[in-house]
Amino acid sequence: MVEGPAENSAQIAPQCSAKGCRAGAEWQLLWNNPKIHTPERRKTWLACGDHRTTLGSFLDARGFLREVTPFASSDGAIVS
Ligand SMILES: [Zn+2]
Repeated sequence: MVEGPAENSAQIAPQCSAKGCRAGAEWQLLWNNPKIHTPERRKTWLACGDHRTTLGSFLDARGFLREVTPFASSDGAIVS
C-alpha cells in the first residue's frame, strides 16, 4: 500500500470554488475588486449549480461581480 499525495493538480476536474464544496464547476463568476484590481482585470471563481447564487450574492453585495457565464470545462478556465 503506497501512501502519498492523492491528488495530481494537473488532473483535478474543475471544481466549485465554494469552501468545502467538491461539486463540478458549472458556472464561472468573473469579478473585479476596484480597490486592488485594475478595471480590466478579471478574477474567476467557479461555481456548481448550488453555489452560483451563494458566491454570486457574496460578490454582488460588495460590488465586485461583473459577469456570470456557463462554464465549459473544455475551455480550461483558470481559477485566479
Ligand atoms: Zn458548490
